[in-house]
Amino acid sequence: MKKRILITGAAGFLGSHLCDRFIKEGFHVIAMDNLITGDLKNIEHLFPLENFEFHHHDVSKFIHVPGKLDYILHFASPASPIDYLKIPIQTLKVGSLGTHNCMGLAKDKKARILVASTSEVYGDPLVHPQTEDYWGNVNPVGPRGVYDEAKRFQEAITMAYHTFHQVETRIIRIFNTYGPRMRLNDGRALPAFIGQALRGENLTVFGDGSQTRSFCYVDDLVEGIYRLLMSDYASPVNIGNPDEITLKEFAEEVLKLTESNVEIVFKPLPVDDPKQRRPDITRAKEILGWQPRVSRSEGLKMTYDYFKNLSNEELYKTPK
Ligand code: NAD
Repeated sequence: MKKRILITGAAGFLGSHLCDRFIKEGFHVIAMDNLITGDLKNIEHLFPLENFEFHHHDVSKFIHVPGKLDYILHFASPASPIDYLKIPIQTLKVGSLGTHNCMGLAKDKKARILVASTSEVYGDPLVHPQTEDYWGNVNPVGPRGVYDEAKRFQEAITMAYHTFHQVETRIIRIFNTYGPRMRLNDGRALPAFIGQALRGENLTVFGDGSQTRSFCYVDDLVEGIYRLLMSDYASPVNIGNPDEITLKEFAEEVLKLTESNVEIVFKPLPVDDPKQRRPDITRAKEILGWQPRVSRSEGLKMTYDYFKNLSNEELYKTPK
């Protein structure tokens, strides 16, 4: 009998890569998504498979899945600032009600559940790099609060189900991840830079570009998720690439890779934009034996190759 896994947010960037991985591992994958930011294109190659099914459903509403369920990966949530600022209430709902529904399902089915948390729970961090023990510096009523606090609530309810209902839970704190199937226009730095380079536009850096980010290639993240799910560790684990770079340097790398003759232009920094971000991955190394394998130059090249093959329609599409 194949193991059965429910993946919420399956038509999104990360969810679709997780579908691929668990199909490859021989699972029966039940993909669920309401397509609010995702795209069926990301998973349509899996539709002909017998061990794949898609449910168009909003997980903030009651979730019904017939049959047994061994695992749940709760990845449904708008994830980029451009999305969650446009749909703040849905973002709060999917982090809270959506997670509550997934926990209820996990309890009912006796399934192990892993929830996708984020480095945003650390807010604009006062501790650097960020270890899992750091409680964060989040402005609850700032524009990013809708996402950050939804994810903080998600972690709290996940722990509560673990403690009070003995549900087998896992919490991953994901740092910036990139790779094929990101949307060019989702407002995140990497696709924004590559999109601008491909359209022959200047690259926009917000602030003076001295703020730092650490970018993890999607295959490395998926490996970390797989290992955490299969582990017996219930406390949060950071997964990300500690190789930190300033946004200005990163824009320069993209210019070099894309061989563009455009310039870097600077615009005012958005409110509450974190100034620095780098995961401390000691815990992931110790507990999961995990560390990133793909260098930024390799990962960037694979991502650029994906974006280069998009149609003009995709290249000039405005955000959903
Ligand atoms: P994405 O927008 O590409 O994917 C999210 C998916 O969730 C989309 O397909 C969307 O349609 C779906 N969704 C949203 N609300 C839903 C609902 N109520 N019911 C059903 N489906 C719903 O984003 P992503 O980058 O793939 O992120 C996936 C998860 O990983 C999110 O939970 C996000 O918070 C988390 N995360 C991502 C990153 C990153 O770097 N990509 C970093 C930290 C955390």
